[in-house]
Amino acid sequence: MGKYFGTSGIREIVNEKLTPELALKVGKALGTYLGEGKVVVGMDTRTSGEMLKGALISGLLSTGIDVIDIGLSPTPLTGFAIKLYEANAGVTITASHNPPEYNGIKVWQENGMAYTSEMENELERIIEEGKFRKASWREIGKLGFADPSKAYIEKALEMVALESSYKVVVDCGNGAGSLISPYLQRELGNKVVSLNSHISGYFVRELEPNAKSLEELAKAVKVLKADVGIAHDGDADRIGVVDDQGNFVEYEVMLSLISGYMLKKFGKGKIITTVDAGFALDNYVKPLGGEVVRVKVGDVAVAEGIIKEKAVFGGEPSGTWIMPQWNLTPDGIFAGALVLEMIDKFGSLSELAKEIPRYVTLRAKIPCSNEKKRKAMEIIAREALKSFEYKRLIDIDGVRIENDEWWILFRPSGTEPIMRITLEAHTKEKAEELMKKAKELVERAIRKA
Ligand code: MG
Repeated sequence: MGKYFGTSGIREIVNEKLTPELALKVGKALGTYLGEGKVVVGMDTRTSGEMLKGALISGLLSTGIDVIDIGLSPTPLTGFAIKLYEANAGVTITASHNPPEYNGIKVWQENGMAYTSEMENELERIIEEGKFRKASWREIGKLGFADPSKAYIEKALEMVALESSYKVVVDCGNGAGSLISPYLQRELGNKVVSLNSHISGYFVRELEPNAKSLEELAKAVKVLKADVGIAHDGDADRIGVVDDQGNFVEYEVMLSLISGYMLKKFGKGKIITTVDAGFALDNYVKPLGGEVVRVKVGDVAVAEGIIKEKAVFGGEPSGTWIMPQWNLTPDGIFAGALVLEMIDKFGSLSELAKEIPRYVTLRAKIPCSNEKKRKAMEIIAREALKSFEYKRLIDIDGVRIENDEWWILFRPSGTEPIMRITLEAHTKEKAEELMKKAKELVERAIRKA
């Protein structure tokens, strides 16, 4: 992580740290980095979108890069447009699920996956150095406008089809998904009721899709006797789901179900997930011919894992799913179509969810200054080796130790001065016993660090 780019691109309060001046510099830096070519630029529904997009586009044009402005656009549509228009990169002006006073800049590669931290570091270096490429008057980039949403829906309908029609309630959280998710569901042949789908830049609910923020959606599904509820965050790269009984389907359960469905649809293979995902996934996909590979937290690592392992699917237990047959950009909207296809083929979500094994998950946060994190993690790694009897150790992102019946993940937060413990066990007693021991270990390590 650098001065501007955090764990998911730039994300800051507008006109405080994220100013038009910074957006201009990012545009110039990206144009300098690319040298030549074409960039797709889209934005979510925030009030500051146009202001930042204009500045960013100016920067790109000044370096001689051509720009296709796709206007209001969810992140997955930007990813789709990069390929459609054969662009060299894409940018979404979005702060994902952050509150409305935030905005952000996230850059995407030619193949649809997000810029890696190495690429972002390079952009930062160019910004700091201030040596931007300056095009002569003859070579200033050209600006065009396009709407890729029709092509997106057509392409999606080539890959997903339903036998029957369903009643679907779509809650876009007043975000950019509003422009396409309800329409795709309708084109699939469903009866669609949309909720929070007016694009004012004022958000009615919290943008992170979870059991609490989706209470209204759950109620609507019940009252309307709908078959399913689909929800998105502000840029619709994520999906949250409510079942036919009006219950929010836990992320881990949804991750298992969709992984299983992808194996049935596209054949046996690897499933990529992150180190914070539970055992339910492994146990559910194994009989279906799936093998789970864990990577670092974040959509870049998931996309890289998919490429490396030639995986069938990759998803995080935050509702961020990547379907490589479609694109390497996380896509909550296409994910919604797949959820409907799964229901169409295999039955209601409330019934399907019963197939997923449930375990006990516990989480804890322990204060730890940023300076102490590295040293504390070294001590934790060393001591965990001694104090727990485990079978496997994964140390790609924090330290995860596991047995057949439980796992514990020790991981420093990337954004807050805390150390996180996440663990899972088959029984409540075992989970509590492990947590007590894990907490003691972390507290001791922080004291010593
Ligand atoms: Mg998002």
